[in-house]
Amino acid sequence: MHHRLLQRQLRRTLGAEFVPDASWTQFLALISDYYTEVDRDRNLIENALAVNSEELEELYAQLRRRADAEQALLRSFTNSIPDLFFAKSPEGLYLGCNSEFERFVGRPETEIIGYRVHDLLPAAQAADITTIDQAVLASGRPHSREEWQKDPAGQMRCIEMLRAPYYGADGTLIGLLGIGRDVTERRRLEEQNRLAAQVYRHTGEGMLVTDAEFRILDINPAGMRITGYSLEDVRGRTPEMFNSGRQDRAFYDSMRRTIAEIGYWNGEIWDRRQDGEVHAKSVVVNRLDEEDGSVHGHVMFFSDITQKKQADDLIWRQANFDMLTGLPNRRMLRERLEHEIRQADRARCSMALLLIDLDHFKEINDTLGHLIGDDLLVEAARRISACTRETDTVARLGGDEFTTILTRINDARHVEAISQKILDRLAEPFQLGDSVVYVSASLGITLYPQDATEVEDLLKSADQAMYVAKRQGRNRFSHFTQGLQTAAQDRLRTIGELREAVWQKQFHLHFQPIVDTVSGQIRKAEALLRWDHPVRGVVPPAEFIALAEETGLIAQLGDWVFREATRWAARWATVVPGFQVSVNVSPVQFRTEDAAARAVWIEQMCAAGAPAGSMVIEITEGVLLSADMDAAAALRDFRAAGIQIAIDDFGTGYSSLGYLNRFDIDFLKIDKSFVQSIATDAGNGALCEAIVVMAHKLGLRVIAEGVETQEQADRLLRAGSDFAQGYLYSRPIPPEQLEAILRHGAHGR
Ligand code: C2E
Ligand code: CA
Ligand code: CA
Repeated sequence: MHHRLLQRQLRRTLGAEFVPDASWTQFLALISDYYTEVDRDRNLIENALAVNSEELEELYAQLRRRADAEQALLRSFTNSIPDLFFAKSPEGLYLGCNSEFERFVGRPETEIIGYRVHDLLPAAQAADITTIDQAVLASGRPHSREEWQKDPAGQMRCIEMLRAPYYGADGTLIGLLGIGRDVTERRRLEEQNRLAAQVYRHTGEGMLVTDAEFRILDINPAGMRITGYSLEDVRGRTPEMFNSGRQDRAFYDSMRRTIAEIGYWNGEIWDRRQDGEVHAKSVVVNRLDEEDGSVHGHVMFFSDITQKKQADDLIWRQANFDMLTGLPNRRMLRERLEHEIRQADRARCSMALLLIDLDHFKEINDTLGHLIGDDLLVEAARRISACTRETDTVARLGGDEFTTILTRINDARHVEAISQKILDRLAEPFQLGDSVVYVSASLGITLYPQDATEVEDLLKSADQAMYVAKRQGRNRFSHFTQGLQTAAQDRLRTIGELREAVWQKQFHLHFQPIVDTVSGQIRKAEALLRWDHPVRGVVPPAEFIALAEETGLIAQLGDWVFREATRWAARWATVVPGFQVSVNVSPVQFRTEDAAARAVWIEQMCAAGAPAGSMVIEITEGVLLSADMDAAAALRDFRAAGIQIAIDDFGTGYSSLGYLNRFDIDFLKIDKSFVQSIATDAGNGALCEAIVVMAHKLGLRVIAEGVETQEQADRLLRAGSDFAQGYLYSRPIPPEQLEAILRHGAHGR
């Protein structure tokens, strides 16, 4: 009011050209301030305004000085305020501000005063501010709100802005005051707290807050869910109230000590829920310290890890135990062996490692099915375990192989007694479902530290001993000996030499005649492989076929044998019509040989000029029994090409005539061990007869092997065997020699 009046009076005095600029406006505002405050000067000013312009200039200068002084005082006041401060005219012109406001706006006072908010801020924001300014002026009441504004550095700041109209002493409105406080940090903290509170309420992780003495102050909903307790249940008590008893006093003491020392603890605890169930928790405890270093309290985070623990446990069991029998597996066995070795060293005593391999398990598995096979293994595991002490370890190495660690051995005879007991128990009949099954086992014994001192070597020597037991006829145990060790080394050397031999073709074939039992004429011959060893001389197949099979060399060797045999078959077919040459084919060849390889054989046979029906291949029952070989398909291929099939060594294996019926077989070769006992063993004679009758019924012809005496020959003749082979007639001989006999026989007899 005053300054409009002043303005009018000034304009009258100064003339119409007078247009008040920003500094004038400011001046006027200050004057009006001053005017209202300094009542006693009123007359002076009114008088002054009535004087001429010179006097007015003088007065102006005077007032100006006073005003400057006033303003300086005001500024020093306002600048000491850490908040933003400004004053605006009702029209929105800045009248003054403090340095904090200058800093925030990023302009000096001279570029603020007399300007409008539109000159400082983007239009939209300025419009918003103008609206609120107007509303405050209109309402005449102070107003506070938060405004987000960019500071000169481009950072968004949250300003809590208080606006208030300000009045002259007479109650007239002079303008608007603004006080702004930067509350960005406070907002941020509040936001964080709000989030933290949200997390506390909604997280799946349990949280507990305790005071410095671990008395519980609060528990979040997840914590209640995990423990089963409500806040009322737990308040004022300590987390040890959850103890399941699996941790002792010392555990908690050490936990508290750690927290006291480093302010932090984490680990796993077995706790009891409110409903009594024991569960595993993963726990982290953080100590909350005051600034002065005293303890404010603790926060505990925890989650239920029972399921994870159970899963871990299962994984551990699967990694270390055999799921079928529940016995430790190979991995676990190694660990136990390491452990027992250390124990034995400490106690200065021996221990024994037994390797137990079930005999003919594969046949049972293949004929009776895997389920019965599994049952048998479980029962075998049970029987073996029953023969040992608590402190001994029984493990399953896989398949039908078991091991036993016998600890604290003082007497080797004790080991043998247990071994025999295991063998006896395994030889007892197994009642599996509807079937009664008989198995036996071969067992190898090795002693620590006498035979070997390393885990690996112990296993190896037990294995070698076990193989000796197998070779000696199964259902027995055998000790590891130094001789076995040497044999193992020999074996390695022989493998190397065998490779060389295959490469250099250091082999030749012998042929053993097979005669017609009735006429005594040579109708066939079996090709038998010989190795011309550069140092050892002629090596019989028993000493290298198994190695050739293990190393896969048998494939190349077998191909050579077949090719060589067809060559002779072709020649002899012209000498003795219908003459047959048989070759032994290893089960390994059946496994590796595919249809394409068989086609090559057949092609070679034709190329050699061997007529259809002149070749026979001898296979063992095992080939027919193994489920993993498509034996039927292979046999079909051979028979389609006119190659006949003989079952070799009948009577030593599973010996099921019924099984043979499923395949197209031409000959059955009764094994020599069987043949050789018929003269002495009446029972075998009868059995032999029965086999012949049955074989004939199935359309097979019978060849008796290993006939050495006339008596055996007579018996076989009586039993109805079709053919015979053995030293009685001829040893295996070189092909040239056989050919001479054939020609001589053909021309001679
Ligand atoms: P096998 O197929 O049972 O061959 C018969 C074996 O009995 C031959 O031994 C033969 O010399 C021997 N024998 C023949 N008549 C009598 C006899 O009256 N009394 C006695 N005690 N033994 C007799 P050999 O030649 O040492 O062959 C041994 C085994 O080696 C063969 O047994 C056969 O399984 C295998 N074999 C031989 N040649 C080959 C071959 O080319 N390939 C394959 N995969 N295996 C072969
Ligand atoms: Ca044979
Ligand atoms: Ca045989």
